[in-house]
Amino acid sequence: MAERIESESRKLLGRLRETLAEDSAGQERLNRIVTLIADSMQTDVCSIYLFRDADTLELCATEGLNPEAVHHTRMRIGEGLVGRVARRKTPVNTPDAPSAKGFRFMPETGEEIYSSFLGVPVQRLGESLGVLVVQSKDARSYSEDEVYALEVVAMVLAEMTELGAFVGEGEGAIRALHTQPELFRGGTGQEGAAEGQVYLHEPRVVVTNPISDDPHEELRRLEEAIGTLRSSVDDMLSKVGRGADKEQVKVLEAYRMFANSRSWVRRMEEDIALGLSAEAAVEKEQSATRARMERVPDAYLRERLHDLDDLSNRLLRLLTGQGKDTGAELPDRPILIAKNIGPGELLEYGKRLRGIVLEEGSVGSHAAIVARAWAIPLVINAKKILTEALNGDPILVDGDQGVVHLRPEESVAKAFRDKIAMQTKAQERYASIREKPATSLCGHTVALHMNAGLMADLPSLESSGAEGVGLFRTELQFLTRSRVPRRSELAAIYGSVMDAAQGKRVVFRTLDIGSDKVLPYMKPQDEPNPALGWRAIRVGLDKPGVMRMQLQALIRAANGRPLSIMFPFIAQFDEFRAARQMLLDEIEREKKLSHALPPDLQIGAMLETPSLAFAPRQFFELADFISIGGNDLKQFFFAADRENERVRKRYDTLNVSFLTFIEQVVNRCKDAGTALSFCGEDAGRPIEALCFAAMGMNTLSMRPASIGPVKSIIRRTDISALRAVIDEARESGAQSVRPAVMEHLKSVQG
Ligand code: PEP
Ligand code: MG
Repeated sequence: MAERIESESRKLLGRLRETLAEDSAGQERLNRIVTLIADSMQTDVCSIYLFRDADTLELCATEGLNPEAVHHTRMRIGEGLVGRVARRKTPVNTPDAPSAKGFRFMPETGEEIYSSFLGVPVQRLGESLGVLVVQSKDARSYSEDEVYALEVVAMVLAEMTELGAFVGEGEGAIRALHTQPELFRGGTGQEGAAEGQVYLHEPRVVVTNPISDDPHEELRRLEEAIGTLRSSVDDMLSKVGRGADKEQVKVLEAYRMFANSRSWVRRMEEDIALGLSAEAAVEKEQSATRARMERVPDAYLRERLHDLDDLSNRLLRLLTGQGKDTGAELPDRPILIAKNIGPGELLEYGKRLRGIVLEEGSVGSHAAIVARAWAIPLVINAKKILTEALNGDPILVDGDQGVVHLRPEESVAKAFRDKIAMQTKAQERYASIREKPATSLCGHTVALHMNAGLMADLPSLESSGAEGVGLFRTELQFLTRSRVPRRSELAAIYGSVMDAAQGKRVVFRTLDIGSDKVLPYMKPQDEPNPALGWRAIRVGLDKPGVMRMQLQALIRAANGRPLSIMFPFIAQFDEFRAARQMLLDEIEREKKLSHALPPDLQIGAMLETPSLAFAPRQFFELADFISIGGNDLKQFFFAADRENERVRKRYDTLNVSFLTFIEQVVNRCKDAGTALSFCGEDAGRPIEALCFAAMGMNTLSMRPASIGPVKSIIRRTDISALRAVIDEARESGAQSVRPAVMEHLKSVQG
């Protein structure tokens, strides 16, 4: 890069910093800055356009154009050359603006006399804040170095905007960022409404010193941070070692490649030479990466850019010292905001959370199941909320609609509180039927059980009115620890669960790991498709140590009380036979040790793959009970990943094929006299629950908060009439019975 430009740029940034240090108001600062830039770049015009709202840019300061146009000239994103820069997030550089594609003449600005135009985006971490423009009368073409230098200035402007340096008072003044109400539309992860304050799972890194006049020192800092970064990536690679997950190794290798990329480092060094601090240089490159990410159609490349983005984050944390931990205290009513979160991390927060909002996430993930088990409203796919939300911001989460109001207006908050009050009333209504059975108008009774996974869930057994625990997910104890729990530890926990259940039945499901339930201390598996991979009972049978230990813990916990155990993910008869035998062997062993044995031992299987529905009759006769794991079953039945929102939603649970399949399982169990239940998430959805009951499913197990709504709808419905509606819809060739069911319910219940 030309030395003249480097020293001019440093001088300009130095003067910008002085301007910032001066005690002047927002507009005055902006005015000074445009004068400074025009002067330094020797252009006739310099203007700053900032976003007024999501789609409108406004001329906020100018040197050279008609000052009357300031705060009057506006354009939509994509409109004119300025709008084009904002839309594409790339510079527009032309010696003859009036004849450039997309030029739009704005008479009030007096710009017709200027020929050359250079506009660069003012953006922070991929978020467009505005456009910085220089123009001249002569038809000059700006050199690459000049474009680069203007981008550096734009980066500093973006940081200043973020820090509120141009905020003023009065009409037309610039408003502070992250202070306005914002609405985010995502998807429902868990229904319910919550009001609280933002708590960020990971902090936003804030660069408070974008300018530096000591490039040598900044280069040294960058070099040091990159050195640390490189060795930490090498460390990670050597730790995963042999036998690690291929995907994980691939990602780490991509990290290593980027961390050693000369061109990435060189661009940052150039930014520093132009006057940026090391962290500002990293952030500038990160912004450019994010802008590229939006334009790249190829999923693989986008993933790689994602890796680079992640690496920039690590580098920023190293340089600013702002760690993973926000240091912020959990507010009174915390609403957790994260890009995504695993079940283990969520369990660490515990039930203190009032709501959860994820930028990504999916309904079928186990984090979502944990949120549902705790009845914590969850909104997924709330795009860009992380660039807006600040710790402590007031926030409303509407899990029913999948909507989030950040910093809401008082009128919105009031309407929302009314909604919460209504929901509380509904809960009171449910409480009034807590002791009553789920008996339909036609006299059909459905047993409602609850799903659980933690000791903390057990009080819900009493408050929800559940008849027992139909599914106790034992893996949650394994997910929250940093090592395999000891037998005595497990026996104590299971024993307390049975104590708390006070004689009500608890169905313990043996360890179901693999797929998205990854134990931090388990060697990662090299599997291209973990959902179809070595998981659940497959692990238990191949490496029986942990399962045997768990079975012993369960027998000891029962200590002479009845015991129900079921095995997850049984795909064929032999797997059930082998698992059952393992349990019987453990019973024998405990007997020899003179430990008390369960007087009644129920051994069941989870039906989570279609194959098991077609198992030999002997399987149905041998199993004491079968529980349909609808979450997994549905993903294999429709070949639609439960964690992939895009495909998951295509297939309705009330699809005729699925209901007919359920009916077949019901019939096979009836023929063999095997007890049957359904414990997937759909059991807790009132309409789905009604339809399952109509198909002959007499036991449903669901999250505790669903028991009230499900019981209430069953008590108000004639299930045999509903069955007739379902059969008619099936006969008619409908794809799903939902429309007919909804219409029927509306006509009879209003
Ligand atoms: C299921 O698959 O429906 C189930 C209950 O098990 P999990 O959701 O834990 O996989
Ligand atoms: Mg399952």
